[in-house]
Amino acid sequence: MALYRTEAIVLRTRNLGEADKILTLFTESRGKVSAVARGSRRPRNHLMGVSQPFTHSAFLIFRGRNLDSISQGTIIDAWLYLREDLLKMAYASYMVELVDRLTEEYDPNEKVYSLLVATFRQLKTDGLEMRLTRFFELNFLRLIGIEPQLERCVGCDSILTANSEKLCFSPREGGALCSACQRTRTDALPLSLGAYQVMRWLATADIARLAVLQMPKTVEAEVEEMLRNFIYFHLQRPLKSLEFLYTIRGTS
Ligand SMILES: [Zn+2]
Repeated sequence: MALYRTEAIVLRTRNLGEADKILTLFTESRGKVSAVARGSRRPRNHLMGVSQPFTHSAFLIFRGRNLDSISQGTIIDAWLYLREDLLKMAYASYMVELVDRLTEEYDPNEKVYSLLVATFRQLKTDGLEMRLTRFFELNFLRLIGIEPQLERCVGCDSILTANSEKLCFSPREGGALCSACQRTRTDALPLSLGAYQVMRWLATADIARLAVLQMPKTVEAEVEEMLRNFIYFHLQRPLKSLEFLYTIRGTS
């Protein structure tokens, strides 16, 4: 029998027939996988708990010809705070949509899996949601090979430092631009030194140390804007979860 065991996080679910759900999972061993959880919409069904969005579980999955099917599941962490706190839920929804949209099925990436688990764990701490999301974006983009280039100018490859005068950011070209190169670009966004330093710090930071970062609200908003533009350039259409996030937060 083609059975495999893996841990996974539920990225999204959709109903199938009267009582089933198709789960989109990000698994530890196989990357993104779709699998049917039969009967999981029936009360007291053994797969009901593991079929909830965000839930982290250990699964036994049957590899089907067309669609995999969940045989057993045991919850490792249901991350209750991601359901009970709407703001945390909104950030988590954004992260899982990002992973869903930017990864292919059966393309294993254990580091993306670990990043998702570590980020959800840290989301328990109040007040870190914004910076955790920026940390997640920068590290996730690096792990899938499309991170913004910050160390060198994307136009001329010159080394950029915190002393570089007047930086810009080009979502289209994929990173920061020196002052000479930005003169010939019309779509580059001005990048403050603070936002530049925060992005570089977050790209290599230890997740457990995010609370020590001093980040004014204006810089936080600027980093969000840069990465939103960068990600939008790769997706070419907006993420649905952002609308929910802005509604909950009361700002875009
Ligand atoms: Zn340049």
